[in-house]
Amino acid sequence: MNSTLLDIKNLKKHFPVRGGLLSGKRGIVRAVDGVNLNIYRGETLGLVGESGCGKTTLGRLITKLEDPTEGKIIFDGNDILDYSGPKLKEFRKKVQLIFQDPYTSLNPRKSAGAIVGEPLYVHNMANENGRKEQIAELMAVVGLSREQMERYPHEFSGGQRQRIGIARALALKPEFVVADEPVSALDVSIQAQILNLLKDLQRDFNLTYLFISHDLSVIGHMSDRIAVMYLGKLVELAESRKIFENPMHPYTEVLLSAVPVKESGAGTKRIIPTGDIPSPINPPAGCFFHPRCRYKMDVCEKIEPELAAKSDNHSVACHLKK
Ligand code: SF4
Repeated sequence: MNSTLLDIKNLKKHFPVRGGLLSGKRGIVRAVDGVNLNIYRGETLGLVGESGCGKTTLGRLITKLEDPTEGKIIFDGNDILDYSGPKLKEFRKKVQLIFQDPYTSLNPRKSAGAIVGEPLYVHNMANENGRKEQIAELMAVVGLSREQMERYPHEFSGGQRQRIGIARALALKPEFVVADEPVSALDVSIQAQILNLLKDLQRDFNLTYLFISHDLSVIGHMSDRIAVMYLGKLVELAESRKIFENPMHPYTEVLLSAVPVKESGAGTKRIIPTGDIPSPINPPAGCFFHPRCRYKMDVCEKIEPELAAKSDNHSVACHLKK
């Protein structure tokens, strides 16, 4: 495995929220709550969990679109939280985000060429002519033609729009890309094309990915390792193969049971967890998953399990002795 590119230490992001009209009390949503994670150069780390588990917030913290409440983010040996001015500008070249929704993330009043070339313009890279050539090259890299530079977002299909978003993300030759649900707004028939394009680009441009999705089958298709997130915390982290062959956290079992048998390789029956997802403002004591867990023990209601290594490169936050 390569060297560490990104090292996240005890990262927290808590959002204050106003209480109900009657109570008037303020609360705190612990969107990200003590995440420790490292991402190796050249790998794809898949981050999976239900909507609202904090995975998008984690992606926004890493790309410095949000500042954390606590913790450190070490990128290439330096703490990015100290960055400002020229250092921050340099960081913004190295780290890019691909957004979920290609329908809303592109400015409808700009041509595809202007959208793809915007980062080059903002960072003052290349003159007008050079920029046009770079844009044409970027369009070609994602499978779009030079002629399509003049067209506007509404003239493209969903898959083509996501290709434009990917070309824009690549414009500054980043080292690290956070792809936040990059295919979830696309037809299933188009998803595989975009996933394969992302894989090809990773190989050709030596990219490191944090790939975020609620869909474990999509994550499995892309990732070298998988981190499973639940209510702001990581509950399991292992190589992709181990997650599919030997899931050790009951929540991962639930996610895996929703993956078609052909992909999961396991003859799993769909597991429907009992109970509702707890409120992130008022999470349960002990293990956050205990109200929904089919293996719950007394200890689970009292003591929060730490994410700890259970076997080689396989960490789990659970009291079960599997
Ligand atoms: Fe289930 Fe207990 Fe493990 Fe939590 S700690 S996932 S409640 S067995």
